[in-house]
Amino acid sequence: MSETDLEYRLRVLDTLSPSFCGAKWYNATIWLGSGMTTSCHHPPAHLVDSDKVSANPRLLHNTDQKKADRAMMQAGERPPGCEYCWKIEDMGRDAVSDRVYKSKIYSEQDLIAAKNLPVEEDVNLKTLEIAFDRTCQFACSYCNPAFSTTWVKDIRNNGAYTNLISDGRNHFTHKHDSAQLFKVTEVNPYVEAFFDWWETDLHSTLDELRITGGEPLMSGHTWKLIDWFRENPGRSRTRLAINSNLGFEQDKLEQLLQATQGIELDLYTSNESTWGAAEYIRDGFDYIQWQKNMDYLMNSNQLRGLHVMCTINATCLETLPDFLTRMMHWKEKHGEDFPNFTLNILRFPSFMSPLVLPENIRMQFKDRLQMWLDHYTDHPQLQPHERFHVQRLIDYLDVVKTPHSDAFDMPKLHNDFKQFHEQYDSRREKCFTEEFPALAEWYNGL
Ligand code: SF4
Repeated sequence: MSETDLEYRLRVLDTLSPSFCGAKWYNATIWLGSGMTTSCHHPPAHLVDSDKVSANPRLLHNTDQKKADRAMMQAGERPPGCEYCWKIEDMGRDAVSDRVYKSKIYSEQDLIAAKNLPVEEDVNLKTLEIAFDRTCQFACSYCNPAFSTTWVKDIRNNGAYTNLISDGRNHFTHKHDSAQLFKVTEVNPYVEAFFDWWETDLHSTLDELRITGGEPLMSGHTWKLIDWFRENPGRSRTRLAINSNLGFEQDKLEQLLQATQGIELDLYTSNESTWGAAEYIRDGFDYIQWQKNMDYLMNSNQLRGLHVMCTINATCLETLPDFLTRMMHWKEKHGEDFPNFTLNILRFPSFMSPLVLPENIRMQFKDRLQMWLDHYTDHPQLQPHERFHVQRLIDYLDVVKTPHSDAFDMPKLHNDFKQFHEQYDSRREKCFTEEFPALAEWYNGL
């Protein structure tokens, strides 16, 4: 019988240290528009020194902050930025957090090497998620101007969202100009450093490079990198992956498939609900077009995998089971990886967390998910990690009471939930109560 995730955690990670996570050494998400870096998408990002990075591009990853976190993990202490994982693990029930999934992709030899590596030494990345800029044609409700130029336009044209009192990260109150430090026409030292590092080292050390955004297919740097792969066949063993919202006419996808012929490509896209709910949550999204594009990509037989990332928030739960059923129908036709899915629980902004919902509604959604899982649990195309993610969400809805340790108290979160969605509705010409009938009565009473 194969080893469970919990058994892996106990056998491999916890014997290195009770807080050990390979992502701190071998993985990074780097936003080149802002010069920010982090070990995975959970800990808050921090700034890379723009002067020093030109001389040593490895500083895009090996910052003083990460080295301090590595030292803590080597000593079995918990870096505070990794709170997402600690919160899951503290739920009990032998909970398994993302540090397991983000570590088990590396060899045990590499994890042991990381444990024993002097903290001052730079590490070469094995997996990297990179964003060149924030250009994006969508302005999803749980996104913000740091990641979307369409969100920037909302704030520029309509001003800041007002009367939000719990939003500690100020997601919706300014244009986040620091997220894009350089104009498209200016030289960005972080982008330069990335391409330097790519040419000298990264193309041979990276196992996987994932391009995110903004919307990567709208960035010229993405196409430049694809060209590199095409013009240098066999020079790199790096697997290429692209995140895309797939909010395009088909010709853009034809262009992508044409440009990546002969290159193994994984495509990651996002969605977590159906029809009007999806189009409400992800402003700019067209559910019919997205499904057509999914069909087009799967029928092309050109991708290595097609992955759907679900951001679990308060508003998606009503149609999430229907959405997961849609995933299963595709799997039945195309196989377990076309598509596969992950459920990532939203923590920020905390007023959009599933945990702001009142107990009775939350339990209804939990029960519906449980029914879904009971129905599909033995389905041959449902992968173990997918089954686990659904079960983890069920447990989360059942057990966890606050989105994160610094979250404001519930009246403030409820205030912001209402304030935000009223303003979002009027700016985007939407209607919350029409799209989320199960939440309407509660919402109207806020
Ligand atoms: S948040 Fe979790 S998965 Fe991410 S680096 Fe920290 S321990 Fe690893």
